[in-house]
Amino acid sequence: KRRNRGGFADYSRAMAAEREESLALLNDLRAAIRGEHDLQLFYQPQIELCSGRVIGVEALLRWRRHGGDFVRPDHFIPLAERSGLIVDLGAWVLDAALAQIYEWEARGISGLRMSINVSLAQFRSASFLPLVEERIRRLALPAGCVELEITESMAMLGADSLIETLGRLKALGLSIAIDDFGAGFSSLAYLQQLPVDRLKIDRAFVTALSQPTSGQPIARMIVDLGRALGLVVIAEGVETAEQEAQLITMQCAEAQGYLYARPLPAAEFERWLAARSLP
Ligand code: C2E
Ligand code: CA
Ligand code: CA
Ligand code: CA
Repeated sequence: KRRNRGGFADYSRAMAAEREESLALLNDLRAAIRGEHDLQLFYQPQIELCSGRVIGVEALLRWRRHGGDFVRPDHFIPLAERSGLIVDLGAWVLDAALAQIYEWEARGISGLRMSINVSLAQFRSASFLPLVEERIRRLALPAGCVELEITESMAMLGADSLIETLGRLKALGLSIAIDDFGAGFSSLAYLQQLPVDRLKIDRAFVTALSQPTSGQPIARMIVDLGRALGLVVIAEGVETAEQEAQLITMQCAEAQGYLYARPLPAAEFERWLAARSLP
C-alpha cells in the first residue's frame, strides 16, 4: 500500500514537472517570436512528376531553443495551439514565408509556389483573414504563388464560415490544399463543396506503397478522387524510387519527400535548385 502511495506521488511529481517544462517552453517560444534568430523556416521542394520540374516548396518551421538544439515542430506546435500562442507564431511564419517568396521572385527565382501550414486555432482567430489580406495586397505577389495548407480534420469542422473564409482567400489569389488527406474521415459530399485546389496524400499511404496489399488502394483512390473533383493531387513523404514509380503509374501529379530533398534552409535550397537545373 505504501508503495502505491509512493507511486502516486511520483506520478503527480512527474505531471507537475511536465507542466512546468511546458510553461518554460512556451515562455521561450514567446521570446523567440519577438527575437530575431531562434526561429527559421526550412523549405522542402515539391516536384511535378510528369516533368520532374520543381514547382513549389513547403515552408516548415524550425526552432533552435536558446540557439541550441532543434525542438521538433510536432512537440511545440501542439503546445502553441493549446495556449493560443499559435496566432502570433502563425503570423511570424506567414511574414517569413511571404518575405522569402517575394525575395525569390525579385531575384528571378520565380514561378515557385510557397505552401504555408495553417493551424485551426490560427485560422479561426479574428485577426487571420485581415492579416493575410493586408500582407498579400502590400506585397502584390503574383496570383497562384501562395498556398495555404489546412488539415483534413479542420476542413471537416466546417460549414458556412469555412467556405466563406476559403472563398475570400481564393479571391486574393491564394490556393488551398488539404493536408494529411485520407487520415481523417471527410464526407465526400462536403469536400465537393469546399473551394480547394489540392489534396495532399497523407504520408502513411505513401509509405504503404511499398507493401502493395495494404496501402496501394488508398493512394490510388485519392488520386482518382482528385481527378473526379478536378483537384491536383500531391503525395508527401515519398522516400523511394519505387514509390515514385507507382505514383507516376497512378498518374499522381506531384510529389514531395526525402527522395528529392529534406527540408532545407533557404540558401541551401537555392544551391540544391541550381544544381538540379544543370543540364
Ligand atoms: P506536415 O505539414 O504534414 O509536414 C510534413 C512533415 O513530414 C514535415 O515534418 C517534413 O519534414 C516531414 N517529411 C517530409 N518528407 C518526408 C519523408 O520523405 N519522410 C519522412 N519520414 N518525413 C518527411 P516536420 O517539419 O517535422 O513538421 C511536422 C509537422 O509540424 C508538420 O506536418 C505540420 O503539421 C507542423 N508544422 C511545421 N511547420 C509548421 C508551421 O509553420 N505552421 C504550422 N501550423 N504547423 C507546422
Ligand atoms: Ca503540411
Ligand atoms: Ca502533411
Ligand atoms: Ca502532419
